[in-house]
Amino acid sequence: MAAALAPWALRQAERLLVLPPDPAAAAPYRQLPAHDLLHAVACHATSCDADCAGSLPPPPGLVRELLCRPWRDEALELLRSQADALRRRLVGDTVTYVVNRNLNVSNHCVQHCSFCAFRRDPGEAGAYWLELEELQERARQAARAGATELCLQGGLNPAAHLDGSHLAFAERLLRALHEAAPGVHLHAFSPQELVFFAERDGVSLDVVLERLRAAGLGSVPGTAAEVLSERVRRVLCPEKLTAREWVAAVLQIHRFGLPSTSTLMAGHIETPADLAAHLLTLVALQGAARERSLPGFSEFVLLPFVGQAAPAPLRSRVGRDQPDLQAMLCLTAQARLVLGGWIPAHQPSWVKLTLAGATEALRWGCNDLGGTLMEEHITTMAGARGGTAQTPAALAAAAGGLGRPVRQRTTLYALLP
Ligand code: SF4
Repeated sequence: MAAALAPWALRQAERLLVLPPDPAAAAPYRQLPAHDLLHAVACHATSCDADCAGSLPPPPGLVRELLCRPWRDEALELLRSQADALRRRLVGDTVTYVVNRNLNVSNHCVQHCSFCAFRRDPGEAGAYWLELEELQERARQAARAGATELCLQGGLNPAAHLDGSHLAFAERLLRALHEAAPGVHLHAFSPQELVFFAERDGVSLDVVLERLRAAGLGSVPGTAAEVLSERVRRVLCPEKLTAREWVAAVLQIHRFGLPSTSTLMAGHIETPADLAAHLLTLVALQGAARERSLPGFSEFVLLPFVGQAAPAPLRSRVGRDQPDLQAMLCLTAQARLVLGGWIPAHQPSWVKLTLAGATEALRWGCNDLGGTLMEEHITTMAGARGGTAQTPAALAAAAGGLGRPVRQRTTLYALLP
């Protein structure tokens, strides 16, 4: 167990983490026609005029049934149209995007996730570690190009410390980027990276959050969530935070007043029950943030698994190198319905689905096209075909092709002129 996590957060995480519902939980919903099933889920998503459940999370069995059904033909179109209608009701027709730059600082990593084609040991072919001056130069370039956000993520690098302190190294990095690109929002360090700094330095996660916020941290990517199911994590990422620990870390991040995104990596060895547990856990976390009027999750991002360059055991077990677009669109719509009013902003990944696939996802419940990125390495090294950068014009044209208005936004979804 991660000693850096607060006991209160671990206790609350135990209560909030939703376990994969078993088949019996779905039995009451199994005979429901598609329309009635979708209506039942949508009624939980946001209050409607009929006799509905309003803002209570949908029951786990209902979500399991939604995710288990083989959606085809008219039923699939009904699913898509319901998700699209809910998107319109919650956030309107405007498609948003953020002008940002990714900075994948280093791929040196102490862990060995079974899906990861990014990590390297130092000295191994393809290993890299960007110098501070180089990162500052890229930050300046991004600011000149109009970026409002720098997104920092990388491996868990055991050598990235200053006089033995990983936290001091991370602080120096944020301050250097802030100096190079003043006013640009720093969206940095996954819950896993933050806990890594804390554990290496022997301090609490709260100390890490306090010092990094003082150094300019504006929000946290909700990555390393993968699938919040202990069974799945034992295969995908046994060295990472457990699902309960990830939930505890996010509770602490939110309690600190720092917003985060939420993610789901899907399309590998997970089951519909695992997906149901993951989505409902995100709902529970957002409910906990709202109870305290905390910022919580700013968006939900579906990250389809790309297996082309993944380590062989998982790659052969999944048996697919690129995402199954139709399955991911179906999951996009299901996630929109389950997350409902709890997480209104939904973003597909053009890196993983290609821009054409991400644009299609705008018809399945998404309302945001993500960032320009300017450079992307993690998924590209896994064999993704979406490219490493998009221009604002390309993102605007993609959304405009659907006849939807387009607006640039900030990291936290304020619309820009
Ligand atoms: S996913 Fe992240 S933590 Fe896991 S091996 Fe890759 S870089 Fe390391």
